Amino acid sequence: MSWFSPTRYVSRVERIDLDELWAQGKRAIMLDRDNTLVPRDMKSAPESVTAWLDHARELGFSLYMVSNNWHKNQVARSSRELGMTAICFACKPLPFAIHRALDRMGVPHEQAVMIGDQLYTDVWAGNFAGVDSILVKPQTHVDLWYTQIFRIFERRALAHVPCEE
Ligand SMILES: [Mg+2]
Repeated sequence: MSWFSPTRYVSRVERIDLDELWAQGKRAIMLDRDNTLVPRDMKSAPESVTAWLDHARELGFSLYMVSNNWHKNQVARSSRELGMTAICFACKPLPFAIHRALDRMGVPHEQAVMIGDQLYTDVWAGNFAGVDSILVKPQTHVDLWYTQIFRIFERRALAHVPCEE
């Protein structure tokens, strides 16, 4: 995998084996909001996602939402519902919000992972910050207009990257 590729590519967030991540020494998970935890056409995360997050907390993971969404209320609502602190308008792929989240959690970058549905924001931000990145497929095909443009390039870049189902 190149520097611009995800460490892993998994079909959806709930398919990521948390016990395995913990055994690998990971202690913090940073998560994108839109189409990673909360489908773009819904207001809340599905139950399968909340159950996965509950298990992460049971294991002892620190969780942090790092979202590019600039609608403060949407992010705050999800942050409340999902029981994790959030940074909105994170300006990924710039790595600064990830550094801030790591600082606040008190976790070194090698013990953290960034999970999101976009190669050019979530994965690049993770890679730029020196944390492992896990790309997931978007929960829906509903995207902002400019994200749809990035998806064209993303599809080409991922054409030969195998996805763990
Ligand atoms: Mg997203």
